[in-house]
Amino acid sequence: MSLIVQKYGGSSVADLDKVKSVACRIKSYVDQGHRLVAVVSAMGKTTDRLMEMARDIHPSPPDRELDMLLSTGEQVSIALLSMALNALGQEAIALTGGQAGIHTSNFHTKAKIITIDPQRIFRHLNENKVVIVAGFQGMSSDYDITTLGRGGSDTTACALAAALSAEYCEIFTDVNGVFTADPRIVPRARKINRISYDEMSEMANLGAKVLQIRSVDFSQVYGVKVQVRSTFSQEEGTWVEKMRSMEDVKVRAITHNGNVIKVVFLEVPDRPGIAALIFKELADCSVSVDMIIQSEGREDKKDVAFVISREDDNRLKKVVDNLSRKVQFKGVKLDEAVAKISIVGAGIASDPNIAYRMFHVLSEQEINIDMISTSNLRISCLIPNSSINEAVQALHKEFIEDEEVSIHEEL
Ligand code: ADP
Ligand code: ASP
Ligand code: MG
Repeated sequence: MSLIVQKYGGSSVADLDKVKSVACRIKSYVDQGHRLVAVVSAMGKTTDRLMEMARDIHPSPPDRELDMLLSTGEQVSIALLSMALNALGQEAIALTGGQAGIHTSNFHTKAKIITIDPQRIFRHLNENKVVIVAGFQGMSSDYDITTLGRGGSDTTACALAAALSAEYCEIFTDVNGVFTADPRIVPRARKINRISYDEMSEMANLGAKVLQIRSVDFSQVYGVKVQVRSTFSQEEGTWVEKMRSMEDVKVRAITHNGNVIKVVFLEVPDRPGIAALIFKELADCSVSVDMIIQSEGREDKKDVAFVISREDDNRLKKVVDNLSRKVQFKGVKLDEAVAKISIVGAGIASDPNIAYRMFHVLSEQEINIDMISTSNLRISCLIPNSSINEAVQALHKEFIEDEEVSIHEEL
């Protein structure tokens, strides 16, 4: 009997009818002889609503209390799904992250999974129960509830699949798989049948929220095979797995992220150790940073610019407060009207022609590029937020649609 871990996202359990149909899908797997662990997210937009309530009460709510609040969303959906399965005659049990043995660091709202003790889950599986686990949460060494960052149920599922040595992990969501661009913005985007962990990790990192980046990294380290697929169809989805890198350099997907802020530290002293000080503070507050640019020095001063996620804006305030006690700088400028557009594919930065084509397409759309960063797997540009949809569509046409046409012509 094979053991499968499945994860159902918020849209998959958005109302009671959807919860019931998820229960039917799970039961059909059990009827085929599988053992099932199902990880569930909060219903629909519950987490967003809880977040708004917290911000109405306090402009920057204490992280521990935020976790206490946000984790309740998943508790509702696991209880309902377990009841729905029991109503179908299939025994099931709902477990919080802590009850499921998920131990995390105590970094509230962005906790990391440290260990998973799978004994209790195995005990219930041996009683022929379906085990329903609350996604996105765990328990710290102080027995406090922690959460794993937005989209964290994906990570719960992949980490459990690794800890339980599951055959594979299925991520059920509201699209048929991982696409060459967000299908909501590019209707001609097509489903990718197989993608490597590296490329998927880069896509997740750059804003393709279909998988949380840590879920991909977990799966890669522990060799978990992951399939992303739709809750609302039987169609096969996208397999994220180990793939040999191909010789030909190819853009696999266009990814965008409008959830970013450009930060500029103005006129910081131009001497050794200052950049290290700024980035140590950012790292200590767990603010992830991308696209770092340091301006030319003038009169012993420099500007240091970088891009952060909007979710880290509260932490940034703390970083600025701490730094202003240690370094003299003129101030901090924030620009929220920006977005990051990226092309992703193994080896693309090694082909300068690809960079040229990307910049040329953006210039044809009269889109100004503010910052650029590259790695072996991607080229990213910071552009005005108002131009993001046309940028995604134009780049998709250049690198995916037109490319397919030329491949067909060559054959
Ligand atoms: P869930 O609630 O199931 O976790 P999410 O909203 O977190 O679902 O992720 C699914 C969404 O990710 C899709 O509805 C889609 O709009 C978005 N998305 C962004 N980029 C991509 C992509 N390249 N492929 C598929 N979906 C994408
Ligand atoms: N409910 C959480 C969120 O909305 C976790 C998840 O859905 O993965 O971010
Ligand atoms: Mg998600």
